[in-house]
Amino acid sequence: MNVLSIGRTVARVGGTSEFAFGLKPYNGGMTASRRSDSSLREIGCPCFTNSEIRLSLPNRRTISLSVLKEARACRVCEHALPNEPRPLLAASASSRIVIIGQAPGRIAHETGVPWNDASGKRLRGWLGVSDEQFYDEALIALVPMGFCYPGKAKGGDMAPRPECAPLWHPQILPKLRKVELTVYIGNYPFARYLREEAESLTEGVRAAGKLLPTRILLPHPSPRNQMWLARHRWFERDVLPMLRRRVTQLLG
Ligand code: SF4
Repeated sequence: MNVLSIGRTVARVGGTSEFAFGLKPYNGGMTASRRSDSSLREIGCPCFTNSEIRLSLPNRRTISLSVLKEARACRVCEHALPNEPRPLLAASASSRIVIIGQAPGRIAHETGVPWNDASGKRLRGWLGVSDEQFYDEALIALVPMGFCYPGKAKGGDMAPRPECAPLWHPQILPKLRKVELTVYIGNYPFARYLREEAESLTEGVRAAGKLLPTRILLPHPSPRNQMWLARHRWFERDVLPMLRRRVTQLLG
């Protein structure tokens, strides 16, 4: 098992697996583990308040996709990004679930780990999966609308770069032949994939019973979305149990 450095965080990743998020090998397991404890606290990420992410990825089920290497080297819209491009995505030919979110946030960009913030923590709770399951690309693919952090806007982040999904999704998604559930998160995936099936995001979320077992639309799990959750109590009461049942069926 290798120990990998993710920026200043540390993940344990099985033997010959392709590194999920552009990570590089980190030598010295015990040192790395101890180092992570203080480094993670320094980052101040809510995910790491009580436990840092240490991933043991069962790579025997992982089949790497060569297109991922091309996507991770992409610089198509670097002129419009606030930082160097750092595409964050994960997928394998054996993934059972694909999560199509919006775009990485600042912490994800800095640490190289997607969904590495309070939104990700809430999303894992909604799905009923552990950190290890969530970051195991043999189980769950993470293919957002924009692979790179788009920068800050008033009241949140900028929209995912519009070049990204039209360029990469048609090359990646059809290769995920074992996927049986696509989880769309937020307005941008809704606009691209479900606009013809529902008039609004809320109606699309409410249609979970019709979209399942193969698709589901979720609101963004950001803490900024608290108002939506408070106004639509049926989401946690009715939709999340359906989602968790389906995820459990697929991941076992
Ligand atoms: S956002 Fe997408 S299209 Fe733009 S550089 Fe990153 S991977 Fe390429």
